[in-house]
Amino acid sequence: MKRVGIIGAGSAGLFAAYELGSANKDLEITIFEQGRDVPQRKCTSTEFYCRQCQPCNIMAGVGGAGVYSSGILNLNPNIGGDLAHLAGSEVLAQEIINYIDKIFLEHGAPQTLFVPENGEHKVDHLIRKAASVDITYIPVVQRLLGSENSPAVITALKKTLEKKLGVKFRLETQVTDITRDLVLTTTPRAETFPFDFILIASGRVGMEWLEGVCESLKIKTFHGPIDIGVRVEVPSILFNNICSIQRDPKFHIYSNKYNDFMRTFCVNHEGFVVREMYDDNRAGVNGISYLTKKSKNTNFAFLTQMNLTAPLEDSTLYGRLIAKQTTILGGGNPLVQTLGDLRRGHRSTPSHIQQNPVQGTLKSATPGDIAMAYPGRILDDISDGLLRLEKVIPGIANNSTLLYAPEVKFAAKKIDVKKNLESAQVPNLFVAGDGAGLSRGIIGAAVTGILAARGILANL
Ligand SMILES: Cc1cc2nc3c(=O)[nH]c(=O)nc-3n(C[C@H](O)[C@H](O)[C@H](O)COP(=O)(O)OP(=O)(O)OC[C@H]3O[C@@H](n4cnc5c(N)ncnc54)[C@H](O)[C@@H]3O)c2cc1C
Repeated sequence: MKRVGIIGAGSAGLFAAYELGSANKDLEITIFEQGRDVPQRKCTSTEFYCRQCQPCNIMAGVGGAGVYSSGILNLNPNIGGDLAHLAGSEVLAQEIINYIDKIFLEHGAPQTLFVPENGEHKVDHLIRKAASVDITYIPVVQRLLGSENSPAVITALKKTLEKKLGVKFRLETQVTDITRDLVLTTTPRAETFPFDFILIASGRVGMEWLEGVCESLKIKTFHGPIDIGVRVEVPSILFNNICSIQRDPKFHIYSNKYNDFMRTFCVNHEGFVVREMYDDNRAGVNGISYLTKKSKNTNFAFLTQMNLTAPLEDSTLYGRLIAKQTTILGGGNPLVQTLGDLRRGHRSTPSHIQQNPVQGTLKSATPGDIAMAYPGRILDDISDGLLRLEKVIPGIANNSTLLYAPEVKFAAKKIDVKKNLESAQVPNLFVAGDGAGLSRGIIGAAVTGILAARGILANL
């Protein structure tokens, strides 16, 4: 009997456990999760907190960050990380994605699949329209779990892991330390557990802790790029056509002036902008959509990718400073500004926001001036990108368009891994998911969980 310890019950950890448990080997698999069980109550608040849902007093737990999200499953290897490279080829990555999708379906995910629709050549038309302004449109097949469904799907998956595959869960148990000979220490009950294999899948919430582990185990890490931008909110009618082709349309752009890579991300048609609060009193914004509850707006993240080189390679620090500065200007809350005010060079005032034709869904954002907080380069990219997107989605660059900040997608430091996601420095220690800088998204994290599990099985 070999013992496998998995840290984190997010998408990466759960799918790794599924793969290991299904392999029919003599394995004892334990998942350590610092949060609680899958939240059973539906969160009805549109004020969303990343780590602790304060209105409902629920701690994020089994299911990880994904369980509170809209649960858009991007079933395409070009989205959510360098999955083709990690899996060995695009075909292999797609095979794993299809396998994960099947597991989601078996555990109650809605059958409806959003396939970029090509009736009357709609997709071709969109690709052509985007290409005419140097924008790449990426058609992606998607499945929507929906915020209301996600907890039930994760609960069913956990039941399979426990009842059928014999996986043990240690909830409300935080792993504090790992030694080179694979012994874990936990809190609040100070216990130690020896393992033959360890998989760290601690997500973004655990990325600083993982950095500390890497430092103490002398595991090499590298800074990756960071995505900084705004959350854009417009009337949903502007997106009706485009979202009828693809639920979460993906556009990639290289900005005119700086040639920075930009992308649209996490489109929430008829959704809500939500606020996140972090431990260091830093605010953030995100988006969410429900299957039943609808707003009159559509929001999406519009991000520009910043690659930093010496002397400041620490992209996380850079992003955090910008987010902190924005939060300070917002009096502890995110900032909201109309695109018109940003263009005219003055702050949005509460009365202007009240009269604005687009009425925002995040009421706690402070009307202000994003230009006081963001570097000019990022603002240039955003203005240029929105003007080009206007040619594809008319109305998107109107003066009434709302911009929320800070919208920062922190990428964890990349960890030096071999093929199969085993640490290059510590044998039989594996990493997976967003926390290791390997993925961005539910499916991407699950793919890396499965790859790491296969790595463990290969080492048996
Ligand atoms: C608001 C929001 C909306 C999103 N919407 C989407 C979407 O629609 N589609 C999509 O694909 N992605 C979405 N994402 C991103 C997606 O949720 C993540 O990419 C995904 O959950 C990453 O999975 P993971 O397993 O790597 O990490 P996580 O899901 O973050 O799981 C990591 C787990 O590890 C636990 N943990 C951390 N450290 C420790 C420790 N020391 N000891 C014990 N446990 C620990 C954490 O509590 C957590 O449960 C969204 C994210 C957010 C925040």
